[in-house]
Amino acid sequence: MSIAANIEYFNQILTGTGCRLVAVSKTKSPGAIMEAYQAGFKRFGENRVQELKEKHQSLPEDIEWHMIGHLQTKKVKMIAPFVSMIHAVDSIKLASEIDKHAERNGRTIHCLLQVHIAKESSKFGFDGEELLEAVKLGQFDHLEHLKICGLMGMATFTSDQQLIRSEFKTLKTLFETIRLMPTSDNFEFREISMGMSNDYQIAIEEGSTMIRIGSDIFGARD
Ligand SMILES: *Cc1c(COP(=O)(O)O)cnc(C)c1O
Repeated sequence: MSIAANIEYFNQILTGTGCRLVAVSKTKSPGAIMEAYQAGFKRFGENRVQELKEKHQSLPEDIEWHMIGHLQTKKVKMIAPFVSMIHAVDSIKLASEIDKHAERNGRTIHCLLQVHIAKESSKFGFDGEELLEAVKLGQFDHLEHLKICGLMGMATFTSDQQLIRSEFKTLKTLFETIRLMPTSDNFEFREISMGMSNDYQIAIEEGSTMIRIGSDIFGARD
């Protein structure tokens, strides 16, 4: 299947679900991205700052770039001028740094708070309880140049569908809990970024609003 046909497949299965596609183009060439772009698709995800910056510079201006990977505070300034959404905000310190660079660029940067939902200990993200406490204490409330749009999570990489489903349910429940909490105006909770090539069907069933798909669109990475 061509990249354009794969994009079309996802557009079709997502129609009417309230879930959108982020095409994860990490390690893939600008030419591969242009194949999707020429088919009318403009929302791409990258996980490395340098690669994201270079692709932003060489590709059309109207592409919506999503930073989906772990972000180091010292690299925020490289993407702050143009990034559309940062999916993996996993500390107050990182959120503060993004806020600072958003202000310097005269922008409001849209962010998602990453929650550690997987069994594997290697994955980044807030612990759910810890995040609830931080929100309750208003620890994000002064970050006026952020729009905190929701949560992001990665399920355990496994063939155990029950485990994946329960991890996505955990994220959804946490989302609903935070959505009902009193917060300042920089919270606009509406997105749950969950689901990858391996588990997007389950993620959509469990209420994902953004699936991040790489290999099922662009083919396996080297
Ligand atoms: C690479 C990556 C994806 C896409 O993974 P696929 O299995 O290729 O669909 C999604 N989210 C994050 C955070 C990634 O790093």
